Amino acid sequence: SNTRYLRVRIGDVGDDLYAIFISDMSEQRRFEAVRRDFVTNVSHELKTPAGAISLLAETVTDAADDPDAVRYFSGRISKESARLTELVHHLIDLQRAQSSQGMSDAKRISALAVARAAISDNQVQAEAHHVDIRLNANGRAVPLDSTDATDEDVEAGKNLTILADADAMQTAVKNLVENAIHYSPEHTTVAVDVAVRDGKVTIRVVDQGIGIPEESLDRVFERFYRVDPARSRQTGGSGLGLAITKHCVQENGGRISVWSRQGEGSTFTIELPAAPQKDEQPAAKEDKR
Ligand code: ADP
Repeated sequence: SNTRYLRVRIGDVGDDLYAIFISDMSEQRRFEAVRRDFVTNVSHELKTPAGAISLLAETVTDAADDPDAVRYFSGRISKESARLTELVHHLIDLQRAQSSQGMSDAKRISALAVARAAISDNQVQAEAHHVDIRLNANGRAVPLDSTDATDEDVEAGKNLTILADADAMQTAVKNLVENAIHYSPEHTTVAVDVAVRDGKVTIRVVDQGIGIPEESLDRVFERFYRVDPARSRQTGGSGLGLAITKHCVQENGGRISVWSRQGEGSTFTIELPAAPQKDEQPAAKEDKR
């Protein structure tokens, strides 16, 4: 990986003089290789379910007389098309995350509101999978629906303000909650903890799922990396969720880390600088003059 690619050109600059031009193409070569891999991966990931769907559709036609077979193959067709849909959505999210102008859409937003929206995006899956989602604000259990919050709940959620793009952060947390549900057995709990400490707001998604082997921990944020590709083929997943999440978090000036132990569960932690209090802002000072 330390190989450098140099392009050497010899130019005739006239009067029997020649010039040698040397350009370092290493960055460009690396960039092109990454893009080539990406396109190859995407085509492969799209072709697999697409091919499966057409095969299954043929089979269902052949089995038209057998209601059980029709039910079985139709079920597999909807599973495969759900996979295709998820992949396409993830590709769009990734494209959006990569082309976003960093903090340009940053506003003062509540990390607790982000967590609530991300949970709400996953409510249907959580119920279908019998996973219980809990939400904690600064250590206090608070309702998933903000309209159910008491004054004490609202108080606990104070100071959880960050300067970030709300859509990007919601996408980031949504993917973490989606994975937490997906990689957990039924009748377990997923906890989303939002807290502020030492000027940092953390959003933590804790599951009691299958966990991630130690040797894979560094790689789960790579595009298309999966711990168990065979399992993913059965249960769905695009292999892009965590890459998108990492991108969204970094674009908003944050960091993401993961802790996990196989058979115990995983914890993904997003850390962002807390937004300055309203009266610390220069605009507020100018108003006083
Ligand atoms: P996928 O669409 O396959 O879930 P992700 O990028 O979201 O892709 O995750 C990459 C891989 O990391 C997954 O295939 C899975 O092996 C592992 N992983 C992610 N989140 C969890 C989790 N909460 N528990 C266990 N494994 C996880």
